[in-house]
Amino acid sequence: MKLPCYLVRDLLPLYQDEVCEPETAADLREHLDNCPDCRALWEKMQTADPLEGEAVQARRQEEAAVLRRVKRSQYRKRVLMVLAAVLATLCAVCLGLRLVYEYANETYLDYDARVIGEVSFEARDGEENSPLSGTGLYATVSAEAAHALVSSKLVETEEGTAVVFTLGCTLKNQWLYHWLEGTASPQSAELAICTAGGYGRTTAETLCAAYYLPYHAFMSWFYQHDAPVPEEAVLLWQRSYE
Ligand SMILES: [Zn+2]
Repeated sequence: MKLPCYLVRDLLPLYQDEVCEPETAADLREHLDNCPDCRALWEKMQTADPLEGEAVQARRQEEAAVLRRVKRSQYRKRVLMVLAAVLATLCAVCLGLRLVYEYANETYLDYDARVIGEVSFEARDGEENSPLSGTGLYATVSAEAAHALVSSKLVETEEGTAVVFTLGCTLKNQWLYHWLEGTASPQSAELAICTAGGYGRTTAETLCAAYYLPYHAFMSWFYQHDAPVPEEAVLLWQRSYE
């Protein structure tokens, strides 16, 4: 035999992969024909290897499947975390907007002088089936007053019954107004300053004057019992006796 057994054992994997030189392959075949030990090893390699390969492949597939499961669960966790973060952000934004809205709703502002300057008064009968029905004192004011709150109180004076009123506006309505300003066409609004419905038998015919008091001053004056017309109140309308 040209080759020793130890060299044959080293070369058999190369022979199996068919990468040996033709001369080496011929020498190996000759050795295998004549050496029972090496032939036995060669036969074992040929039968065992494919089975071993299948086992390795199966294990690798199993490992890959485990890896995929782990990746999928990690991905699911990440998606849930992102969703939770988005939800928390949305909740925070909603809460913030709600607080701003409440604040705006509860904060009352004085109407500015230009709106009050555009008020015109008329004592007449209101339309039927309208919130302004009944004989009363009506004011026509500019667009900003469309969002106004009217509050009024009657005061007995030497000349007769006077009405002291105020126009208030919520912060929210002012924002709305400033937001609409420029896009909305100017419109006037009619506000009932004093109506028969609100004051029993009192009608516009019995009134002698109408005073305007800024909202915050009005609210502190309103609850004082038998308080006279405040000095800072502005006389806006007076009955003419001609
Ligand atoms: Zn041998």
